[in-house]
Amino acid sequence: MMITGDALIGGVAVKGSGSAVYAFNPGLQQQMEPAFHAVDQQQIDQACRLADAAFDQFRALSAEQRAVFLETIAEQIMALGDTLLERVMAESGLPRLRVEGERGRTVGQLKLFASLLREGKWQDLRFDPALPERTPPRPDLRMRMIAVGPVAVFAASNFPLAFSVAGGDTASALAAGCPVVLKAHSAHPGTSELVGRAIVEAVQLCGLPAGVFALLTGSGNGIGQELVRHPAIKAVGFTGSRSGGMALMAVAAARPVPIPVYAEMSSINPVFLLPQALAARAEEIAQGFAASLVLGVGQMCTNPGLVIGIDGPDLKRFTSTAAQALAGGAACAMLSSGIAGSYQRGIQQLAQHEAVATLALAPQEQGKGAPALFRTTAAAFLAQHALAEEVFGPASLVVACRDLAELHQVAESLEGQLTATLQMDTADLDAAQALLPLLERKAGRILANGYPTGVEVCSAMVHGGPFPSTSDGRSTSVGTAAINRFLRPVCYQNLAQALLPAVLRDSSAAIN
Ligand code: NAP
Repeated sequence: MMITGDALIGGVAVKGSGSAVYAFNPGLQQQMEPAFHAVDQQQIDQACRLADAAFDQFRALSAEQRAVFLETIAEQIMALGDTLLERVMAESGLPRLRVEGERGRTVGQLKLFASLLREGKWQDLRFDPALPERTPPRPDLRMRMIAVGPVAVFAASNFPLAFSVAGGDTASALAAGCPVVLKAHSAHPGTSELVGRAIVEAVQLCGLPAGVFALLTGSGNGIGQELVRHPAIKAVGFTGSRSGGMALMAVAAARPVPIPVYAEMSSINPVFLLPQALAARAEEIAQGFAASLVLGVGQMCTNPGLVIGIDGPDLKRFTSTAAQALAGGAACAMLSSGIAGSYQRGIQQLAQHEAVATLALAPQEQGKGAPALFRTTAAAFLAQHALAEEVFGPASLVVACRDLAELHQVAESLEGQLTATLQMDTADLDAAQALLPLLERKAGRILANGYPTGVEVCSAMVHGGPFPSTSDGRSTSVGTAAINRFLRPVCYQNLAQALLPAVLRDSSAAIN
């Protein structure tokens, strides 16, 4: 399949008329062809109107038909073969193994949503039969979840496949019955076009209305804001920077009809080193932590950017081993020059901070990111909010606390997080128990004796958390529960059987 630099609207390739962006190969530091022109206001409007026109037909499909559609997208993505893998590698600098793994995850989550649809529980059917003899009499009440309407999805820079064009937001929105208008990320426009074409092919093969999916090209905040402002759009899925997510939330809230924005933004994913675990296996924990920190050049939303432990010889053993493992780390190409630039600024700020000691700082190179490890005291961390800001890349800050009480204070000071990790042994059970209610308030996923990177796609996964890790801590963007973001409940009161949706008729009530 050829990459032409086109947007995909109404099932056909169209050229944007705005300014051109080019993909950039971060490994070779080279611009790539072709040019991707920004779509204009009219094209955004057309994509949104077509999505709106397709909505009723698309949501009325049977669960089986939508499941087949998702599986067809997965097949079409696999059919792109090496063309896709090579373009992702070139645009992202990610190695083949990681890209193959990410493709597997992308296809796997499309199939997972297909099985969710077939299983049926996503509709959350509820039946409260009429009680005519009761005073006052109760009417017949039945409820089901329906799709919210067309969804605007923003592809993420750090997962060109799994959080992008056919990623988790798109898969869950399509599964719910929502057409998707996708804003491609300028870090991987060629990848976006290839995957977009695979979805368009699946739309055609399944005989669906062309407005079910559109891909918008181009860079610039205007495109995203125009899209979120469009009256046909009923919800937004976003993964990216805190400033980007906040800007889109403001646009969504200022509309005449405000809409929800599910933005995944920043998280530093604290790792708590509880005393007995640290005493028993400081070096082993440090090795695992270092491996997790450098995964994907640290460009993971679940990267362990903060480590909290009690000061003393055991924490020193941890920091020495981690620093040794990280100091020799090579500088690797980062996903984009923007991400590399903000990483360099972030580690420079930490390195120059008067209350921060540099434990490891591998040689840095332009456009690349090498590991870095810093240390500060709890007192300094509590006094300076800036030390808790995300540095997106393979850098982490160790916070040394006087005792468990101060460790609690540090935990309490944290903003909302995607994850919180406990390194603990059986003898730490009381300390962990005491910390748990606090961590439940702070994080969407709490894990023991592992590392936060590596997010399983399954039914119990939560990849979400209180602000600012996400804009809405009641949701997840990974796992089957992600579908709930794009559904809303409708109650049917005293409707004749013929008027009820098939799943709510008496025959279904008997089954349920
Ligand atoms: P980004 O700058 O937020 O961009 C993400 C998408 O949102 C792009 O399509 C961008 O469009 C659009 N956008 C950004 N600001 C906007 C605004 N004010 N109005 C309308 N649209 C807007 O994120 P990024 O490029 O992926 O990475 C930048 C930084 O985000 C990273 O250095 C990192 O700190 C953070 N990040 C965090 C995570 C995480 O999971 N925690 C993941 C990825 C990135 P245009 O670029 O076309 O304007």
